[in-house]
Amino acid sequence: MSVQGSCHCGNIQIKVPHAPAWVADCNCSLCRRTAWRTAYYPPEQVSISGDTKAYIWGDRMIGIHHCPTCGCGTHWATLGEDFGKMGINARLLDDFDEGAVEVRKMDNAGD
Ligand SMILES: [Zn+2]
Repeated sequence: MSVQGSCHCGNIQIKVPHAPAWVADCNCSLCRRTAWRTAYYPPEQVSISGDTKAYIWGDRMIGIHHCPTCGCGTHWATLGEDFGKMGINARLLDDFDEGAVEVRKMDNAGD
């Protein structure tokens, strides 16, 4: 069953095919600041509407998107190379409960 989500102001709407079975809690220099809980999906299964703004981290091949109005981090997506997946900030999904899913700690503190 598909799950919807949105940023705080509602400008960005997200739809994914199912609730995440697990989410990532990453400690890299970006995630420790943004506190995302990231869920991964194949890009073709995700629908995102609304205009986001992307932050490009150095020479990395992904854009990290947020809503320019309310500032909520929404998703990351490749800038060209096909990863076969993209990341959604599960905190934006309706009824997301961190206590009800597996949270996988990702140790990327060196990044
Ligand atoms: Zn917003």
